[in-house]
Amino acid sequence: MIGRSGRGGRSSGGGRQRVATPRATLVEVLEHPLLGEVTLAQSPRARRISIRVRATGAVRLSYPYGVSRQRAVAFLEEKCAWIVATRERVAGRRAALPPQLPPAEQKARIEELRRAAKADLPPRIAALSAATGLSYAALTIRASRTRWGSCSGRNRISLSLFLMTLPEHLRDFVILHELCHTVHHNHSPRFHALLDRLTGGREKELNRELRRYAVL
Ligand SMILES: [Zn+2]
Repeated sequence: MIGRSGRGGRSSGGGRQRVATPRATLVEVLEHPLLGEVTLAQSPRARRISIRVRATGAVRLSYPYGVSRQRAVAFLEEKCAWIVATRERVAGRRAALPPQLPPAEQKARIEELRRAAKADLPPRIAALSAATGLSYAALTIRASRTRWGSCSGRNRISLSLFLMTLPEHLRDFVILHELCHTVHHNHSPRFHALLDRLTGGREKELNRELRRYAVL
């Protein structure tokens, strides 16, 4: 779920140019549709790849010289669930429903969203699948507060019932993102090219828009 924002950056997976001052820490910001900005730092002081999650939710991925950016990003992908869990832990109830809502009402609200999601999401993904020719194995609807959607290696797509709090075009965008994962199980340039094409060249714009919504 990574989209690189700083294309003019100094490092890239393959033909990295030699840097004149190898002692410098090279910093790059990645755009993550669900996590937001992730700082990537290649540092001469780093001994191994590591991820730090601050109380603010800010995520920093550090890696030493000698480790490729590609490998560092793969590590980040592997740790995505851990980052999300850690963020939730450090930020407490940041992503929870408004605390003023009594538990019974929260429950009722979730059940209402679940009913709406069960009515809306299955036909929506079916229509998008038919329109794009991207097929998926199964759909599960969960009360996930940390991610809008996910796609397993076996193309089982999971969608959050909180998608029902989004405008329809963003709901579609999340679904298209997950459908693209049935072809590319990563966030490679080819993945982004496909998603960008299917959204009429609006992937970045829609990502930005999506990030304005917290999963509530
Ligand atoms: Zn993704």
